[in-house]
Amino acid sequence: NRKYRKTIIAGNWKMHKTATETKRFAERLKGALPRSKRCSIVLCVPYVDIPAAVKLLKDSRVAVGAQNLHWEASGPFTGEISAAMLADLDVKYVIIGHSERRAHFGESDLIINKKIHAALAAGLRPILCVGEDLAQRQLGVTLEFITYQLKAALAGVSPEAMRRVVIAYEPIWAIGTGNTATPEQAGEVCAAIRGVLRKLYGARIARSTTIQYGGSMNETNAEALLHQEDVDGGLIGTAALDPEKFLQIIQTAN
Ligand code: PGA
Repeated sequence: NRKYRKTIIAGNWKMHKTATETKRFAERLKGALPRSKRCSIVLCVPYVDIPAAVKLLKDSRVAVGAQNLHWEASGPFTGEISAAMLADLDVKYVIIGHSERRAHFGESDLIINKKIHAALAAGLRPILCVGEDLAQRQLGVTLEFITYQLKAALAGVSPEAMRRVVIAYEPIWAIGTGNTATPEQAGEVCAAIRGVLRKLYGARIARSTTIQYGGSMNETNAEALLHQEDVDGGLIGTAALDPEKFLQIIQTAN
């Protein structure tokens, strides 16, 4: 699979770390990165940590990402941040549709679709998160639900633009719980996601799209998860807060 697509290891810090802590983390990370460049590395930090992260990781192989954006280009949206503001700071990636934003901030599929378009228009690479909750898994509707999420989020995205989209499969029951999906469960859903992309965009684009797994991925289980044919990386929360653990996961993917 590495012939067709890039493995991407991305950290999602959520609401953790000050700019001062970001500096310390970035210095440690930069000083210990493996030389070979088989995987891409992304660090998605809180908005206010972006300048520090970009500055410190400038000449490294680590790209900086954001965790959210507003879909409008500008306007009366107190407290919000646009895609162009992020791109201007040299942000390369942005997480869109994380289950925490869907659950706690009322993000609908329509809003997520608008955010995907806004990110792409500004030249950012969206990391689109999809994933079922425990009830949906137990009811046996996981694949139907994820198919729906993908279709809704990607509505109107051209094949050309799709080349810059990364998908993250994040089962809600596995996020922050220590309950990782088994490699087989992760592999099965990531393969199904690729199947949906094949129907929507054709075989060429489906085969070259990076599909990450996320949900309690750590330095111990990363190897088995990344070994799955259709798992092309990870979106890592808790374990990405510790530079040593994050580095170990990078080593595994490298
Ligand atoms: P976790 O978070 O690794 O702490 O489960 C992953 C995520 O929510 O992106």
